[in-house]
Amino acid sequence: MTDTFETPTTGANNQKVNLMGMSPNKLKAWFAEIGEKPFRATQLLKWVHQLGVTDFEEMTNISKGLRNKLAELAVIEPPKVIEQFDSKDGTRKFLIQASGGSAIETVFIPDGERGTLCVSSQVGCSLDCSFCATGKQGFNRDLTAAEIIGQVFIAAKSFGQLEVKGPRKVTNVVLMGMGEPLLNFDNVVDAIHLMMDDNAYGISKRRVTLSTSGVVPALDRLGEYTDACLAISLHAPNDELRNQLVPINKKYPIAQLLDSAKRYIQGLPDTHRKITIEYTLIDHVNDRPEHAYELAELLREVPVKINLIPFNPFSLSNYKRVSNNALHRFKDILMAAGYTTTVRTTRGDDIDAACGQLAGSVNDKTRRQERYLAKAGQEPVRIIPFA
Ligand code: SF4
Repeated sequence: MTDTFETPTTGANNQKVNLMGMSPNKLKAWFAEIGEKPFRATQLLKWVHQLGVTDFEEMTNISKGLRNKLAELAVIEPPKVIEQFDSKDGTRKFLIQASGGSAIETVFIPDGERGTLCVSSQVGCSLDCSFCATGKQGFNRDLTAAEIIGQVFIAAKSFGQLEVKGPRKVTNVVLMGMGEPLLNFDNVVDAIHLMMDDNAYGISKRRVTLSTSGVVPALDRLGEYTDACLAISLHAPNDELRNQLVPINKKYPIAQLLDSAKRYIQGLPDTHRKITIEYTLIDHVNDRPEHAYELAELLREVPVKINLIPFNPFSLSNYKRVSNNALHRFKDILMAAGYTTTVRTTRGDDIDAACGQLAGSVNDKTRRQERYLAKAGQEPVRIIPFA
């Protein structure tokens, strides 16, 4: 998949190729196509993804002749930031332009030495999980590889990382922002290759995590392309409840999903890796002790660690945040059953950047947003007026 490709062109200039999102292999193939040596790809990757340079003219170890040729054929175009929001807890959210009046969101969460970037993969999402603000926004399109890796570029650049001896601020990436990554398979895989490549961001495979709600056929193929970490957006211990919370479960039920996830993790060359199970706790929906016992039983044969996420309310949802008592009881049951269980701390809620709250501004093609708003008696959200 990574060796054959349709040349990605830029919207601004359709004749020119945008090299921003080209995976290392595709970049080498592109240089070969224009009669240049593969090491040029390495030089270009370093300029762009390690030094933040997007103007060929500044690439001083490339001859003037080749710089001119590159400028004739290609551009390096990351997406544009519309607005940046800084939370009092250090979380930073970027609202990023995604053409046609839409915008996506990316969130950076600092935690001591660790800096985790939560990256979006689609403009909106077609899957409509009942507890998720993105789902309520409807869907517009898949992000390009340039728009996905561009989020890492933007965040790293904003912290001065893309400079000589710049501090490594983005240490971890989670594909848990807007969209279902496995429904945008090729572009997500290309972006992951750039995240991990030593000539680009060089993030360890143990620090890049793809989170899926359960697109089983795509998960079955994933191991052929990457060895990134895997998270499963589970949220329920049985099919009856999961069908309500995560509708794709009706197509690919829990047993199929866990089997596929197990095959992925067991197919990785390094042993001892675990699947992260994400479980959003919603008051009186999936937070009862019997749910915790059922979850413990369900996961008995699967190598997992469990991350509990207290539901973060948003305007189009009637769900409520889990109580502290229910949260601790749930956690204690899982710990007593032998599972490593963590609770995700809510970060950035003063800038609507907490888990499940990312909404951006989706020019919705599905009209789902309109239906939800009509039901709630609310006006449509602001669509950002740019071309
Ligand atoms: S939880 Fe993920 S898959 Fe479900 S609607 Fe939200 S973005 Fe889409």
